[in-house]
Order: sequence, then structure tokens, then C-alpha cells
Amino acid sequence: MPSIAFLDLKAQFATIREDVMAAITKVMESQVFILGDEVRLLEEEAATALGAKHAVSCASGSDALALAMMAAGIGPGDEVITTPFTFVATAGSIARSGAKPVFVDINSLSLNINVREIEAAITEHTKAILPVHLFGLPAELQPILDLARERRLVVIEDAAQAIAPRYDDRGFGTAGKFGSFSFFPSKNIGGAGDGGLVTTADSSLAERLRLLRVHGSRNKYHHEILGTNSRLDALQAAILRVKLRYLDRWTRERQSRAARYRELFEDMGLTKTVQLPPVPEPHFRHVYNQFSIRCRQRDRLRDFLRRSGISTEIYYPIPLHLQPAFAYLGYSAGQFPQAEKASLEVLALPIYPELQESHQVSIVRAIADFFATSN
Ligand SMILES: *Cc1c(COP(=O)(O)O)cnc(C)c1O
Repeated sequence: MPSIAFLDLKAQFATIREDVMAAITKVMESQVFILGDEVRLLEEEAATALGAKHAVSCASGSDALALAMMAAGIGPGDEVITTPFTFVATAGSIARSGAKPVFVDINSLSLNINVREIEAAITEHTKAILPVHLFGLPAELQPILDLARERRLVVIEDAAQAIAPRYDDRGFGTAGKFGSFSFFPSKNIGGAGDGGLVTTADSSLAERLRLLRVHGSRNKYHHEILGTNSRLDALQAAILRVKLRYLDRWTRERQSRAARYRELFEDMGLTKTVQLPPVPEPHFRHVYNQFSIRCRQRDRLRDFLRRSGISTEIYYPIPLHLQPAFAYLGYSAGQFPQAEKASLEVLALPIYPELQESHQVSIVRAIADFFATSN
């Protein structure tokens, strides 16, 4: 019986061990742990890789969103429109700013925010739209940007699952006013702990972000604005600089694993039984932080795979409008049917550059076995 991990960070580490250890040693020998050259260089290199004018690092992807909110001046009395089918941090960052998260349903195929529903949710209090590039598939940004320009709203892209080398004209997280990224270990570029990054094309906003992450202080003990402590550790920056060099290669490897899954599902006659992630249009890239299939028998399939030694995950089992933490917003079950349906049907399969082809075959064969025996 195979034992297939959902994510195998040890296998990744084995391929870059020497460079990572050298980077750690360099920081330890410098004893410079807060900001400094490693952080500055990571920001420069990330900006170049992502095609962003400015990149400002911070302590986590959650903080990246929160800092973008603060820099945009979003706070109590304001509303921010977002998707309920995402990680909690997306709407959590809105709530932490004092503003009110306003949910709209998702598109049933892309699982990203349904652009057609955004306009009806705009009120005189709306300040921003916060689309998420879920699983690494870009949200439909152009109509969102057009709507935002027309209604004078800020667009903050939650690109936590969508860090990618620059492509076409625009990378993920560079079209809106802010792009927000995470270096959580399971993201496409993950640190040895928490970390995050905000991109922006606006140099005064970049400057503001740099102030906000150090308690609003340019000169020691002079505080121009209220901020917080949210810096990326120099140790993390040094490790991330090593990993960033693999961004292009690892992205391509994720994409080729996804393509192989599609072939296998096709070969085993499963494409009518399970729904595969949408194939993005040519000008859009999917960077497959997750490869999530959908089927109505999701929970039984997941059990079957677990018993077959195959680990899977569910992103996300409960949409945010039904989470106790957001009960105060007053939403109820049935309000966002597409998000609710997706939460019952999605199942993320292992996908990472080190995933072996033989494992992919075992995974899809096990799924075929499940449907052959249990239906
Ligand atoms: C991971 C993630 C975040 C937050 O990142 P952390 O670094 O874990 O704080 C935000 N939004 C989405 C969609 C994420 O997947």
C-alpha cells in the first residue's frame, strides 16, 4: 500500500539543503536578525520576480492583508466586499481593521468571487474589494478593476495561494492597489515559519507599509503614525531568498503535475464522475497551490483514500459566513449556495514539485477503485 503525503517538505528540503543551511549560517554569523540586508534583498528580488514596483515584507500573510487595509485607511464604518470561500484570514483582516466584511457568492466553476454579484453589494460605505486567487487560479480581475475604478474602490488581491513568476503583462498581486502574499510553509514558496509580503505600484503606499510594520517609526522612538510590529525575520528572508530562485521551476513542476492528473483522470474515464479544476484561459495561469477535485461523495472518497494510504485535505469545509467568528455579521445558511455546495464537495489532492508520477497514478487509480466499488 502506498503512503502518499499531502505535502512533503522534507523532500523539498533535501534538494536545497546546502544553500538553505549556508543562508542560515550567514545570518547567525552576522547576528542581524531584524530587517537589514537579507530582508531588503528579498524584497528587491521578490519585486523583480513578481513584476511589482515595490514589495514590503511582513510577519505573515494575514498581516500582509491587515497592513494593506491600514495603508488604505480602511477602518470602522467601512465595508469591504470579499468571498466567503477562502481561508479565514481574508475576512479576518477586514474585521481586524474595524471594517465590516461583506460576502458575495462564488462562481461555481472557478470557485473565485462571482464578479456579477459584486456590484449589487456596493453601498456608500464600501471602500474596497478583496478578491482571492483561490488555489492559485486568478480571480477575474479585469472586470473587478473596471468596477473599482468606476466606483472609486481599492482592490486588494489576496494572492496568498498564488505567488508566481511574472507572466504576460501582469503577475498575480500586481494589478490591484495592493497584492498580498504568504510564505506559510504550505504555500508555493514557504519559509521555515510564518512570513508575508505586500506589493504595490504606489511608492507613497510602499513607504507607508514600511512605516506601519515598525510602529510608524522612521527614526527610533519617533512615531509618525500608529502601526504594529510585523516584520519578516532576517532568517526567514535568507531562507526565502534561496527558495525564490526556484519559483519559476517549481511553478512549472506544479503545472506539469496538474496536467498529468488531467491525463490520468481522462484515461481512467473519471472526468464525468469527478469535476476537475477549471482549465484557465490561455492568458491566465493556474499555479496550483492546490489541485481540488469535486464530487458529491467527497467524505466517503476521502475516507477510502485515507484507508489506501493517501492523504488529502479539504479547503474549506465551512464557508466563512457560517463560521461562529462571523456570526455577528448576521448571515445564515442558504445565503451563498455556491460556496456552501463547494464546501461539501471539494477535495484537495497532493500536488507539489516532488510528487512522484507513480504516486499520481496510485492516487487516480484509487479514486477509480472507489467509484468502481462503491457506486
Ligand atoms: C494562507 C492564506 C492567508 C494567510 O496567510 P498566513 O501567512 O497563514 O497568515 C490568507 N489568505 C489565504 C487565501 C491563504 O491561503
